[in-house]
Amino acid sequence: MELVLATGNEGKKVELIRLLSGLDITITSLSDYPEIPEIVEDGDTFELNAFKKAREVLKATGKWVLADDSGLVVDALGGAPGVRSARYAGNQGDYKGNNEKLLREMKDISDEKRQARFVCFMALVAPDGREWKAKGCCEGQIARDYAGNEGFGFDPLFFIPEKGKTMAELEMDEKNEISHRGRALQKITKILVELCREN
Ligand code: IMP
Repeated sequence: MELVLATGNEGKKVELIRLLSGLDITITSLSDYPEIPEIVEDGDTFELNAFKKAREVLKATGKWVLADDSGLVVDALGGAPGVRSARYAGNQGDYKGNNEKLLREMKDISDEKRQARFVCFMALVAPDGREWKAKGCCEGQIARDYAGNEGFGFDPLFFIPEKGKTMAELEMDEKNEISHRGRALQKITKILVELCREN
């Protein structure tokens, strides 16, 4: 079985490949299908965006596709950056700009009101049209300064109280155990294991 990961984000791809490494599945990604045009993530929810990506890549490849849409939801900012996380500061994937904007927006927010969560929504679609979905969350707080060099995106500003560390201070395996993406994928992996048995 070939499963196409519908992501062009290297950070996410590395994490997903690691998480799926135990399964008897050939994993490819959008870089193996350069002819697929960029998919605009214009939905208002993580679910809409994940299914849009999954269905478009299925249409283009005819393969199994796993797509995810994820982002950071900050209570004190009314849920922002949310589905706009990748382009919070304006340009797609400008991690430095996004983090600086987040620090600015959170400057006057007290310690008690800095709760936030990473959210990940995954959509799995099959060549025969069947679809599955899973959601994962990881709770934390927005730090007042950067810490750590691992991970990507908002990781250096996302403090996890139980760990006493930011997400960027965790090794990849430690992050994958508790992360939004790891949690969503644990659910999808159970489905994939069943499907591998059937095939
Ligand atoms: P997506 O590629 O549309 O799902 O956008 C994801 C965006 O949300 C990324 O560009 C990051 O800004 C943020 N994000 C999602 N997951 C993570 C994570 O695990 N760590 C840090 N930032 C993340």
